[in-house]
Amino acid sequence: MQTHNKTYDLIIIGGGPIGIACGLEAKKHNLSYLILEKGCLVNSLYHYPANMTFFSTSEKLELDNIPFISNNPKPRKAEALEYYRRIAVSNELDINLFEKVISVDSKDKSIHNIKTSKGNYTSKNVIIATGFYDIPNYLGIPGEDLPKVNHYYNDPHYYAKQKTIVVGASNSAVDAALEIYRKGGDVTMIVRTPEIGQRVKYWVRPDIINRIEEGSIKAYFDAEIAEIKETEIILKTAEGEKTLENDFVLLLTGYRPNFDFLKNIGINISKDEKHIPEYNKESMETNVPGIYLAGVICGGMETHKWFIENSRIHAEIIIKDIISR
Ligand code: FAD
Repeated sequence: MQTHNKTYDLIIIGGGPIGIACGLEAKKHNLSYLILEKGCLVNSLYHYPANMTFFSTSEKLELDNIPFISNNPKPRKAEALEYYRRIAVSNELDINLFEKVISVDSKDKSIHNIKTSKGNYTSKNVIIATGFYDIPNYLGIPGEDLPKVNHYYNDPHYYAKQKTIVVGASNSAVDAALEIYRKGGDVTMIVRTPEIGQRVKYWVRPDIINRIEEGSIKAYFDAEIAEIKETEIILKTAEGEKTLENDFVLLLTGYRPNFDFLKNIGINISKDEKHIPEYNKESMETNVPGIYLAGVICGGMETHKWFIENSRIHAEIIIKDIISR
């Protein structure tokens, strides 16, 4: 454990697109800053499905007006990794990778003590840009921890010729179901609601609806998994319980921010089901002075509310607030 004597103007927790945007803005205004990222650079994006295509066109994912040139209007994952890496490297951003922030102690109002997996730091200000992709929304059903169950989907090849259950009806579930079906997987979707989600990309939704209607992909609506067993799943439907033979289960039911991390710092979280963290919309400062929120984490459980396109602006708002003091 190394204790660093320097007191930074700003420590940014999370090296995702928005953490990087904050680092660029801090550098532009000559603040001493450091980004601390628990995984690789843009760790969440790195763990997205291998073939994913962004719903945003590339210019909407740009940081600090640095051109994002992609082969098609909507870039692919590999192009986004290339873009954000080039920004971090060519701008020589101060970023420590594979260093997880464990806690932030803000008892002393003007200096925050940051403890990481590798050391201790002090900073006058802290931005939390930790996203939401680390913690899946667990269903809490028996068998959820079996090796055949995964809360993350990567690549369709693995599921070829396998009876694969895909739970969920949002973009992630629909993309996985279509890809696996097209690589020869036997796909059954389990959907809690009566239809495929309305927020599914407008050019993908007709595709999944047609595949279900023609029977290429099976789907149970208004249905929930009650239990996962070694070779089958037990399903609750309006017509009663059903048992389906099965090889793999993908539980693509979304992810949630690390609320305990925020609460331990002293940030208030709304008591309703949205779990919105408290912050001032004009400055992005939380109820803990000197601690700011940026990026998708601002939406609490509404993880669709903020994304790169509409939250990259948080960097400018926060740095403006910090330098105005
Ligand atoms: P993240 O990218 O999640 O970055 C947070 C970072 O914090 C991570 O790298 C994580 O490892 C790190 N971290 C977490 N905890 C700690 C800790 N304790 N210590 C240190 N580091 C920590 N958005 C768009 O605008 N357009 C799109 O087309 C689009 N397509 C998407 C497709 C998919 C499949 C998904 C899942 C999301 C998509 N999004 C899109 C959403 C977008 O990717 C997120 O909104 C975006 O990543 C948010 O950036 P962020 O920096 O706030 O969070």
